[in-house]
Amino acid sequence: MPDLIADIEGCRLCAERFARTETGHAPRPVVWFRPGARLLIAGQAPGARVHASGVPFDDPSGDRLRDWLGLERAEFYDRDRVAIVPMAFCFPGYDAKGADLAPPAICGRTWHAQVMERLARVRLSVIVGGYAQRYHMGVTGNVTETVAAWRDHAPRVFPLPHPSWRNTAWLKRNPWFEAELLPVLRAQVREVLDD
Ligand code: SF4
Repeated sequence: MPDLIADIEGCRLCAERFARTETGHAPRPVVWFRPGARLLIAGQAPGARVHASGVPFDDPSGDRLRDWLGLERAEFYDRDRVAIVPMAFCFPGYDAKGADLAPPAICGRTWHAQVMERLARVRLSVIVGGYAQRYHMGVTGNVTETVAAWRDHAPRVFPLPHPSWRNTAWLKRNPWFEAELLPVLRAQVREVLDD
């Protein structure tokens, strides 16, 4: 495991790709897992703030995700219990309109099978956003359809929308998410982490 973590941290496969983005940044893999983790948070890719801090979900999206999970920062960032594995370990950058670029597929192809093989103790997977849902759950529908069907996957897997402020309107349109899904998710998180 230490070798794999060091290998990912040293990865520069996307250097040329990132240099061509509007942000023109260099790769900075944000790697946050250890083999004992029981809760997996599978997400999309670091944003600009996380690229700067090197800490996953260290931004308002992370605050919302922690609220959804019922976790304080100390527990959320306990790598021995919580693994945070995005579809790309680096910030993909912005396009000319300032929109987030997609996580580079080469990251999943290069690293994910090796990472998941080593996370054998995971008992609860929280799959955030469409990219991660397609990869980890094999679904083909959109995020709303996938999250609405959460009972088909619970209690070991919970699909979530991205906790970005961009999804605030989505949350208002889908009140069942906070009223029905979140209480079950929080109870499951507690059961897995307290066990
Ligand atoms: S996004 Fe993934 S494949 Fe690309 S440089 Fe970062 S760690 Fe390497």
